Amino acid sequence: MRFSDINGNADTLKALSGMISSGRIPHALMFIEPDGGPAFSVAMAYLQRLYCHSGTAEDSCGECPSCNRVGKLIHPDIHFVFPTTSGQSSVSLMPQFRALALENPRFTEAELGAALGIDSKSSLIPVAEAREVLSQLSLSALEGGWRSVVIYLPEKMNQEAANRLLKAIEEPEPQTEFILITHSPEKVLQTVASRCQRLQLGAPVKAPEFDQPELLDDLMDAIVRRDLYDALEAGERISALPSRESAKAFCKYASDAMRNVFLAQQKMTLAQTVSGNAAAWAPKLHKSFARGALAALDNANRMVERNVNMKIIFADLANKLYRING
Ligand SMILES: [Zn+2]
Repeated sequence: MRFSDINGNADTLKALSGMISSGRIPHALMFIEPDGGPAFSVAMAYLQRLYCHSGTAEDSCGECPSCNRVGKLIHPDIHFVFPTTSGQSSVSLMPQFRALALENPRFTEAELGAALGIDSKSSLIPVAEAREVLSQLSLSALEGGWRSVVIYLPEKMNQEAANRLLKAIEEPEPQTEFILITHSPEKVLQTVASRCQRLQLGAPVKAPEFDQPELLDDLMDAIVRRDLYDALEAGERISALPSRESAKAFCKYASDAMRNVFLAQQKMTLAQTVSGNAAAWAPKLHKSFARGALAALDNANRMVERNVNMKIIFADLANKLYRING
């Protein structure tokens, strides 16, 4: 994969090749993208340029032995970590991961789960993976250059795993690089995320299938004004959506908006600006609002699936959001 093989994201690609040609290579990069986005391709094009023996300032050559090994995901100094289920590991499932990523580098979380034969919803990155990475990094680079770890979905690291890796990210060995690819930056342990240079890829998350954005606007306006009565009234209107499917679409739409609020609060966007009203709400909301709101929306979505009374679900949601912004 070369930079020139990637469509769009020109500003980010230019920033990345600039880091390499200037020798100012961050020890940890975190790519933020929507599920199914270009981050894996971008990460591999970046590593290929970093490892290439005869590239230009802008791009790898695509032909030398290093490019060949990086391109086939078999370079011995590049390690991959991704969520699995118990009894499995990134090392044991690497052949399946490699086959999927080579065929479709824009794979989604669900496609990865299917390729690995695991339930992607319950998968995680346990502390054993962190130990494995640290032991691999303790060996000297097999080819004498950079050693890299690509962590796909760091939001799925449990606390213990994240704490183990944190030390390696905080006090990196020379010529060691971590690349994190996340779909939910708000769920990445803050101490890890803050150590990474963050880059947004692809369009900001949005859910075009929901056609009544004013329902969320009214609810959020009430939350921002700290008006519980109006918030509950907005909740009542949401509960009158015509079907459980449309209520679930609302939850997804609202969750995507909350991720944008989070990005706006963290000033995590580079080439893109945060879309819609999220940017306007962000400065008026509590710093931990997005995190709490996402948990409340997850819960509401589960209640919709379980056929709980819609009025109860959305009155509860409005009430919770009001309190989170207290
Ligand atoms: Zn090359």
